[in-house]
Amino acid sequence: ITSSDPIENHQISVCVRKRPMNKKETTREEPDVLTVPNKENVIVHEPKLKVDLTKYLENQNFRFDYSFDENSTNEMVYRYTAKPLVESIFDGGMATCFAYGQTGSGKTHTMGGDFSTKGQQDCAKGIYCLAAKDVFRLLNSKYKKFDLSVGASFFEIYSGKVFDLLNNKVRLRVLEDHKQQVQVVGLREEPVNTVDDVLQLIQHGNNVRTSGQTSANQHSSRSHAVFQLILRTKGRLHGKFSLIDLAGNERGVDTSSSDRQTRMEGAEINKSLLALKECIRALGRNGAHLPFRASKLTQVLRDSFIGDKSRTCMIAMVSPGMNCCEHTLNTLRYADRVKEL
Ligand code: ADP
Ligand code: MG
Repeated sequence: ITSSDPIENHQISVCVRKRPMNKKETTREEPDVLTVPNKENVIVHEPKLKVDLTKYLENQNFRFDYSFDENSTNEMVYRYTAKPLVESIFDGGMATCFAYGQTGSGKTHTMGGDFSTKGQQDCAKGIYCLAAKDVFRLLNSKYKKFDLSVGASFFEIYSGKVFDLLNNKVRLRVLEDHKQQVQVVGLREEPVNTVDDVLQLIQHGNNVRTSGQTSANQHSSRSHAVFQLILRTKGRLHGKFSLIDLAGNERGVDTSSSDRQTRMEGAEINKSLLALKECIRALGRNGAHLPFRASKLTQVLRDSFIGDKSRTCMIAMVSPGMNCCEHTLNTLRYADRVKEL
């Protein structure tokens, strides 16, 4: 490292992943408006009209810690995003990994939470399981002598309310003590020893999550799913990895809907995603005000936004098609702001 190197923040990494065009987009010959020219940059070719109605493309360049093109695999994405954070929880740290983006952009695919269409084989290659695999590997090798155990919890935040996915979706209260310590009261934590244990929990949680819903994707687009791997020593919290499949960010734009329920949900999602951005930014600026009370999501993750042992990565998912261009730009701008210090 030379003195001319820019000061990099190793606590926060922000990456982008482009998904491949899907069948529908290909069939209607929708143009692909995204290029990933190298491992850092992504370019959006936004179609625009001049006043005299001539068409032109406005190229907008974004730069991230890592940009993954449509040929990347979950393993590759994992290796450069969540994997480098795993060891920090053995060091007593708090790690978080967020999947952010529009509904249909690949958040759940990347995290490995889609059992309905993907099945176990595919989900085992998602970030939930890949992270668990590395946790167990370290637990049984380098950290064998440390008397650590692993537990998992899985809950969702919908309209500012917390529901336990490992306990029949019961609603849980969030309490804060005088030291600002936040607790999700009664959140179930299951012991896990193998990747298979983790797979089963996620599958179970997902069934609970989507039961009674007309469409699994409709519901997941409106709620945040939080999966946590918790390290304990003699019952005491040692470190925690929170992996979060966020609500679709297009929902936040939805605050003008005529339906009151939809409008309220949109406002809530908007609020939580804005608070999230500010909280991650505060992590990068030690001592900055942490507006964690602004939403339930940031409140329950408060511990993860403080301390020099906390690390976070955000994976911004983007759809390549022209019809998604506006949401894609919103996603990239948001991700850009998270990183900018
Ligand atoms: P989200 O959770 O953001 O709403 P999904 O993960 O459900 O989006 O993805 C929408 C669809 O696109 C799913 O059918 C999924 O399997 C597919 N998909 C997403 N990302 C990829 C990818 N990188 N490669 C192949 N298929 C993908
Ligand atoms: Mg999803």
